Amino acid sequence: MILRGIGASEGIGIGKAVCIREKNLDYSSVSYAGREAEKRRLQETIEKFEAQTGSMAGQILERAGQKESEILTGQIAMLSDPFMQSQMAEMIESGQCAEAAVDQVCTMYAEMFAGVDDELMRQRAADVRDLRGRMLSILLGAGEPDLSRLPVGSVLVIHDLPPSLAVGLSRENIAAILTETGGKTSHSAILARALELPAVLGVPKAMETVRDGDGIIVDGSEGVVMLNPDQLTLGKYLKKQAAFEQKRAKLEVYRNRETRDADGRRYALYANIGSAAEAEAAAQAGAEGIGLFRTEFLFMDRAKPPAEAEQLEAYQAVSRRFADGEVIIRTLDIGGDKMVGYLGMDREDNPFLGHRAIRYCLDHPDLYRVQLRALLRAGAEQHNIKIMLPLVTSLEEIRGARALLEQCKTELEQEGHPYDREIRLGIMVETPAAALIADLLAQECDFFSIGTNDLTQYVMAVDRGNARVEKLYTVFHPAVLRSIRSVIQAAHAADIPVGMCGEAAADPRLIPLLMSWGLDEFSVGASQVLPTRAGIHRWRAEEAGQAAREAMSLSTSSGVQGYLEAIARP
Ligand code: PEP
Ligand code: MG
Repeated sequence: MILRGIGASEGIGIGKAVCIREKNLDYSSVSYAGREAEKRRLQETIEKFEAQTGSMAGQILERAGQKESEILTGQIAMLSDPFMQSQMAEMIESGQCAEAAVDQVCTMYAEMFAGVDDELMRQRAADVRDLRGRMLSILLGAGEPDLSRLPVGSVLVIHDLPPSLAVGLSRENIAAILTETGGKTSHSAILARALELPAVLGVPKAMETVRDGDGIIVDGSEGVVMLNPDQLTLGKYLKKQAAFEQKRAKLEVYRNRETRDADGRRYALYANIGSAAEAEAAAQAGAEGIGLFRTEFLFMDRAKPPAEAEQLEAYQAVSRRFADGEVIIRTLDIGGDKMVGYLGMDREDNPFLGHRAIRYCLDHPDLYRVQLRALLRAGAEQHNIKIMLPLVTSLEEIRGARALLEQCKTELEQEGHPYDREIRLGIMVETPAAALIADLLAQECDFFSIGTNDLTQYVMAVDRGNARVEKLYTVFHPAVLRSIRSVIQAAHAADIPVGMCGEAAADPRLIPLLMSWGLDEFSVGASQVLPTRAGIHRWRAEEAGQAAREAMSLSTSSGVQGYLEAIARP
């Protein structure tokens, strides 16, 4: 039998299914032991939860990384929110047992987060549900399944994989993961990729269909699951698995190399990060610099904006880690699908077309200046930080940001703080307006980086997060490709460098086009650094030029995509 879902972490896992079903967390027979006793039970449970979670976070930090462990420390932070705790205490005051207080308050938060049309908020809903289940387990004395004890070759089948369970995951005994929920950016997917465990997520009714002990193959590259495969299928996938492992091992030779095409022309290959901690993983993955630091993540999951000192520390850490390379830091790109609760941003009918990114920042100079000052100061040591403005549509926006930057320089001068006097200021080209006046914008900024995620969305008039119109969201559309080509040309005509930090930079099918148009810098997710370096290495300029000319002579997305797939170099 074949099941289909979302291929969220590449690779082939083969083994026996282990289905993890929900524990019984029914507390209907628990009676109220009185106000003080219930409050004490709640307090003890909170302390136990914090201790357990802290130790899990420590383990996951060693095995996966900072970002993954922050998922768990985030749960501790969530639980220490005084508002959440006082709501639980109030319920106990009103005669409810500690279990009911935890259940109802967590469920209320989870529903609130789940109702917001924002991937990050939905993730928080999953985190609160995980928190609820584990708090109830502690209160009711129900044990957590210990995944580290599962037999070698187990394929984990679970409705949802909460971070607290993921801590027990190891490639030593787990062959793959299969879940009913989650998408490519869910925490389960992040963890699976960090551990390089094949995963297919979002398989409908997996828990009903799969039985414990079933033979199972998970193809995380294709998003396909084979249940009780016959010998022929098994043989086919064993070969595919060996080929995948071999391919991954072959990429190792690219780790400490420069990024050059087959003729020896050099390209910059940078990584995209969302926190200072990720800079380490990016460096280890072989990135030569940072092409996009999405600073908005520093502003999320907290009660107020990070102060100048905190921002300075984060930017400095990345600048130091890449002391010999460049670090492109994008200023706050909030709004759209990235809401920051405490800023009191209004809900909008069309948030992607609304008061977001540079528009919001220029209208909130006090907030923006803190970030610009921190960036200027962070650039003082290595002089390798470049400031990048998101969602630019006009020259006025660049001028507005530059004016604020100059004001900040004057202040820092007067205060005697060292800062980078020559700091470079560039823009994301991710709107049709910016692409169409790229020649004008290039006169007033120091570099471009093409944001294909948004550029595709706006050129195609297709919401990048809406699965129903996903087929129309394609970078292979001639309109998107022409925009990219003309932006690169405009940058070079004005003699400024141009990179790409949207997901398309990591698409091997586009490499010959981007190379032949002269893209200077590719910025990709850390796990895509080596495949991209290898991909660039496979092409000679002349062949890439031919491929680009042919692709651009085709008039449909499917035509272009089909052609580029046919000539792809594995
Ligand atoms: C983009 O739009 O291509 C981009 C890189 O930025 P983000 O995905 O953060 O919008
Ligand atoms: Mg964008």
